[in-house]
Amino acid sequence: MLPEGFFLHRDEETIWPASANVLLIRDADGAVLVDVGCGKEGVYLRLKDFLASQGMRIGDVHTVVLTHAHPDHMGAMRYLLEETSPRIFLHPFEIPLAAEPSRLNGTFDMALPLSYGINPFKLERPDILDYFQASGCPMAKADATDVIDPDGELALGKFRLRVVVTPGHANGLVSLFEPGSGMLFAADAVGDVVAWYSPSSGGLTGFLSGLERLSMLDAAFLVPSHGGISASPAREIERTRERLLRREGKIIRELAGGPLPFPELVARIFKNPLIAFFPGPQILQCHLDKLQGEGRVRLRGREDGFLVELTGRT
Ligand SMILES: [Zn+2]
Ligand SMILES: [Zn+2]
Repeated sequence: MLPEGFFLHRDEETIWPASANVLLIRDADGAVLVDVGCGKEGVYLRLKDFLASQGMRIGDVHTVVLTHAHPDHMGAMRYLLEETSPRIFLHPFEIPLAAEPSRLNGTFDMALPLSYGINPFKLERPDILDYFQASGCPMAKADATDVIDPDGELALGKFRLRVVVTPGHANGLVSLFEPGSGMLFAADAVGDVVAWYSPSSGGLTGFLSGLERLSMLDAAFLVPSHGGISASPAREIERTRERLLRREGKIIRELAGGPLPFPELVARIFKNPLIAFFPGPQILQCHLDKLQGEGRVRLRGREDGFLVELTGRT
């Protein structure tokens, strides 16, 4: 199904944080990798085994395209950069994050739960890099050599891939479309599970607008960063949109019983205590931002915080 010269590597470990799929594109000069996977040694060794199965070595990789600067997509750069120095392509918004990963705390809105008094683990300063380190998928640093044109094309060997920006999960998350074969590499915008979203990464409205752009491509098949290839891109994109709107429906149903403080609403939507700290509050904030923008929800102040309530507008 993949265009000639394209190969997909899926790591065997699927437990979160699962390593992102790696797309290999062979050209006359060697290999291009789209994402490189988690910064776990076993993951990197399996990537090398995969290259070997294609008769290639890590030194043949002359270009790395990173769909966004998240640890499950670029953590393995910590090993790869020890062995070779490829060109590195990133969206302009992701370049500073890859160069200085502690900035991810801003785009993940790690301080948001604390601002609502949600801090079950009594953390002074929650750090997303600690979270990924503890989860066995540490982040790496990488300096981009090339900028992905957000409105343009990416010329890789004889291929020209159209760039489609799909924010919400990451401001500079790029999906890639190969018009010749109809292949849509949808990164984290579409997949087995809906990737988390946060206000500083483009929010829910950003996520929905990205899905809209993907749906207009007339793709023949879809390759996600997590999960297998699908021959029904339109259905996969719609399924992701429906899951997002189902969550919105759940929030509205909870509020139909009366106004609620933000932490209470978080606890009702996200039962798992870890998720109720991250990324639950960040996701809920994205929904409230959208609903407030539409005039369907408002905030009512009170001394010890504020209440979220429906306006009655649908
Ligand atoms: Zn991601
Ligand atoms: Zn991912």
